[in-house]
Parts: sequence; C-alpha cells; structure tokens
Amino acid sequence: MDVHKILAERDETLNYAAQKAIAFLNKAQTRDIEPTKEALKNLSLLDGPFPETPMPSKKVIEELEDIGSEGAMVTISPRFFGFVTGANLPVTVAAQWLAAAWDQLPNMAVLSPLACKLEQVAEKWLVDVLHLPKQARCSFVTGTTTADMVCLLGARNHVLEQYGWDIQTNGVFGAPKIRVLVGEEVHTTMLRALRAIGIGNAQIEKIPVNDNGAIDANKLPEFRDEPTIVCLQAGNVDSGAFDPFDTIIEKAKKYNAWVHIDGAFGLWAASNPKLKYLMKGFEKADSWATDAHKWLNVPYDSGMAFYKDEMVIKKALTLKGNYLVQGNDDPMNRTLETSRRARGTEIWAALKSLGRKGVSDMIGKSCDLAKYFEKRLKEEGFEILNNVELNQVMVSFGSDEKTKAVIKAIQKEGTAWFGGTNWHGKEAMRISTVGWSTTKKDIDMSMEALLKVVNQFN
Ligand SMILES: *Cc1c(COP(=O)(O)O)cnc(C)c1O
Repeated sequence: MDVHKILAERDETLNYAAQKAIAFLNKAQTRDIEPTKEALKNLSLLDGPFPETPMPSKKVIEELEDIGSEGAMVTISPRFFGFVTGANLPVTVAAQWLAAAWDQLPNMAVLSPLACKLEQVAEKWLVDVLHLPKQARCSFVTGTTTADMVCLLGARNHVLEQYGWDIQTNGVFGAPKIRVLVGEEVHTTMLRALRAIGIGNAQIEKIPVNDNGAIDANKLPEFRDEPTIVCLQAGNVDSGAFDPFDTIIEKAKKYNAWVHIDGAFGLWAASNPKLKYLMKGFEKADSWATDAHKWLNVPYDSGMAFYKDEMVIKKALTLKGNYLVQGNDDPMNRTLETSRRARGTEIWAALKSLGRKGVSDMIGKSCDLAKYFEKRLKEEGFEILNNVELNQVMVSFGSDEKTKAVIKAIQKEGTAWFGGTNWHGKEAMRISTVGWSTTKKDIDMSMEALLKVVNQFN
C-alpha cells in the first residue's frame, strides 16, 4: 500500500465522484426508473476474482460509477411511487458527504463532540416538530425496525419490573408472561422486533381492524392486571390508516400497559396542522419509532426511537468498560450499536434547511398529491380501495389478473414506478407519494403513461 500515491489521488478521485453524483441526481429527474437490460447485464462487471494487486482509486471510482449509476433503480425519481422509500434532499446528500469525510463516531461526547452536538440539536428539533412530549428522548438508529427494538426492549423490561421481575439479573427465561396486543395489520417488521425481544407469535393477540386497516376500538379486548405491551400504528403500510390512539391508550394506561407506536412514515403527520387530527392522543404513548430515510427525505439509513422515560432505555442498554470514558448522556447508552454513523448530521441539515414550515409543507404536499392521484384515477373510472387520508392510494383496474398485468407493464414502461399489494383479498396497485421533488406535473405524466398501459389491456 502506497500512502503517498493514495494521498496524491485523493482530490481528483473525490472531485470526480462528486461531479458524477451530481450528474446522477440531475438525470434522476427525467430518467426511466428501472435500469435498462444492458445496465443490469453490466452489473456482472462488478464481479470477478478478488484482485491480487492495488488499483488506483480514481480508476476504481470510474468503474464503480460507470456501472453503478446506470444500474441503479431511480427510487429518488419524482415519479417513483412503488414503496414508501422517499428520496434524498440535496442538502442531506451534501451533509452525508461531509459526514463521511469527518468520519465521526457519535457514541461518546469525548470521542466526537461534533457528532454528539448534532444529534442533541436534531433530537430537540425532532421532538419539537413532531409534537412529542417535552421530556421525550431520541436514539438515532438504522431504521424503524431497530427503533422498534430499542423501544420494545425498554417496554419489556419495564412491564416485567412492575411485576417484580428484574430482567437485568434474571434474564428472559422464566420471566412472567407478557401479553402483547397489536392490530391485525401490524407491520411485519414489528413482529420481527417482537421476536427479537423474546415474544413468540402465540403470545401476540391481534385486534381486528376496520375496512381501512386501522384497529377497530370497539373490538379491543379487555385489559387485565398483567404485564402488557400494546403496539399501535401511525400509517398502515398499504392504506396509510391510523389506529385510534386516544381511546386505546386511555384504556391501556389504566392497567399500566406500555404503548408503543410504529410511525415509520405516519408519525410525520404530527408536523402538519391539517393532518394532526389523525394523531389524536398519540403523545400519551410511551414510545414511538419513525424513519428519517422515508418522509424526511434523508439518504439511507436513518431511523429514530423516541421514548418518554430515558431511564428505562438507559437501564436496558448502558455499557461499562474501564476504557470507556463516559459522560452523563453518552448516546451509546441508549442504542443497540456501540459504533455507528453520525446520522444526526443529515437530519440536522434537513431540519435546518426546511424549518418548521418546510417540514409541514413537504408532508402536506405529499398528501395533497395523493389526493390528486385519487381524483384523477376516479375520473377515469378506476376503483380506489382505501380511504385516502395520508400519502397512500390503492387502486384496482378490474380483475386481479388485469391489475397485476397493469403493474408489471407500467414498471417496464419506465415513466413511473408502482408496486402491488393484496388489499383485503383484492389485488391492488399501491401508490406512495413521499419524494420531496414530486409535483402535480409528475402525477399528470404518470397518469398519461398509466392510461396508455391500461388501454393495452382493454
Ligand atoms: C418501512 C416501515 C417499517 C420498517 O422500517 P425500516 O426503516 O425499513 O426498518 C415499519 N413499519 C412501517 C409502517 C413501515 O412503513
């Protein structure tokens, strides 16, 4: 390894990568969403025997860019509606570049005062913009799945402690049984998080949901005097529906149950005054999970775990080691990871750049665009399967076969990309409006492409 050579190549390599990344972002606004057949075939060029000797870094980046940029799915396109992915605001890409250069580790203040400060400020602003309780704390994690795990670890330990079981000493095995209540349409990742904290499927009671996929408060089972965790949802992954937080939390709290809310994208409704009605009572929960990589339009990966009682989380996750010079509030005592990226950097940049108004507008705009999609689809006589209150629209084109065929064909057409799902027994095309750069014109363009495709099947 030739250090002098690597240093000599550095500026040119980084400048080249930055220029090509900018070109990718520009092209993403107009490019077909799926990579071409040729680009997909070229992905095999990334393969080969493990190199025996070094290669100059600029050449590596040239090769990576040449194959990678064409081979990427343009999920950051303003016409990507396939999954609730979200794109990357330019300011967050730039912030991530800086963060990569700084290479900071936000686990202890002594190791990175900068990264810890950024997280501290981002935490304060997030609690503010999402209208969470003032004392709520935040852990920066990879995504909602791990955020759920952090919160559920706290939940598990806390409800067991209330019934005299000290899990730190005695562990999970032999502990009193925990009753877990979730909605019938709980996100699959929540079930994984529950399994990871030791809750098996047979321990989980599923509460029936209404036609829009939200828990039916009338079908809530009676709470009992026993360790109980309730997992609610802000934003059903298909329909965008919200569980009735107010009613359920009030009942759950009478029995000291821990209430957790999965708000991977839906939690952001709290930032917009027109949508806040969907969130009624959510602040009475004990913990919340959300993503920044979805609706805040920050690059992967970025999720947040919020919780009211920081001591519960610290008790579950605090580390000790003679070499760990710790401050009072080091972030590593509130995450599963000891080392991790300085995710606060991009979140800080996004919030600083958008401000309260920008966040609210971005979320509100996505929902307006979903409504506009719904209107245009209805005008064409297509059946909308959900109650469109957030950023999710589900549409049927007639028979299940036809809907499936339309989805496949529109994905190949290239202008826009939609995914599919099965909604209460019926095949549906699923539309998620989450990208910051989507405009009404993109919906019009997508509708035009869609109508052409649908007409092929008539
Ligand atoms: C995306 C999503 C998750 C999982 O989030 P990750 O960031 O992928 O871990 C959980 N719940 C809902 C409702 C989601 O949309």
